[in-house]
Amino acid sequence: MSLNVIMLGPPAAGKGTQAKTFARDHGIPHISTGDMLREAVAAKTPVGLAAKALMDAGKLVGDDVIIEIVRGRLDRPDARKGFVLDGFPRTVAQAGALDGLMIGRDPLIVVEIIVPAEVLVARACGRRVCRDCGTITTAAQAACPTCGGKLEQRSDDTEAVVRERLRVYEHNTRPLVDYYRSRPTFQPVDGNRAPDAVANGIRHAVETAQATDVAHRR
Ligand code: AMP
Repeated sequence: MSLNVIMLGPPAAGKGTQAKTFARDHGIPHISTGDMLREAVAAKTPVGLAAKALMDAGKLVGDDVIIEIVRGRLDRPDARKGFVLDGFPRTVAQAGALDGLMIGRDPLIVVEIIVPAEVLVARACGRRVCRDCGTITTAAQAACPTCGGKLEQRSDDTEAVVRERLRVYEHNTRPLVDYYRSRPTFQPVDGNRAPDAVANGIRHAVETAQATDVAHRR
C-alpha cells in the first residue's frame, strides 16, 4: 500500500521540516510546491518569473499553474509508492483537483499541524534556510547545523509578508480543514512542541489514519 500524505497547516507550522523527515524515513518523495516555485524563480523560468511578485507579496500563485506542477510531479514513477505533499493543496479548487489526481491510488492521509497564531509570526521571522542543503533552522544558529553552509532568510519571511500569508491561509486554506475533516484518514497533530515530539505525533497520526481507513473499508 502506498503512503500518500498531505501536511496541512499555516506558514511556519513546521510542515517543511516534518514533511522532509517523514519522507526520508519512509523512502518516499517530499513534494513542496513552495520549493518547486523557489527553484523556478532561481532558474528564471516563465513560471518562476510570473510567480515571484506574488510570492514576495505573500499571495497565492494561480490554481491552474500549481495544479499542473503537481500533476506533472505525481506522474513521475517515484510518486507511485507514495509522497508527502507540503504546501499543496492550499485552496478548495486545488483539493478538488488533487482528489481527481488520486483516482486509482490509495487514499490521502491528511495531517493537520496545529500551532497558535501568535507563535507563527515569531517562528517565521526567526526562520533561516541553508543555501546549500535546504535545512530549516533558526537565526540562533551561525551556520547550517547539517552541512555548515550559509544560512539565509526567505524573502517572504519578513513580518509584514508573514502576516499577509497568515491572512491568506485563514481565508483560502483553513476551509480545507472542513473539506477533509469528515474523512476517516484526517488526523490533527499538536505542532506547538519540539520537532522530535511533533515527528512522533505525526508518525502516530499516520498509523491511526491507516488503521481507521482499513477498518472503514471492511
Ligand atoms: P511555502 O514555501 O509553502 O510557504 O510557499 C511559498 C509561497 O509559494 C506561497 O506564499 C505562495 O506564494 C506560493 N505557493 C506555494 N504553494 C502554493 C500553492 N499550493 N498554491 C498557491 N501558491 C503557492
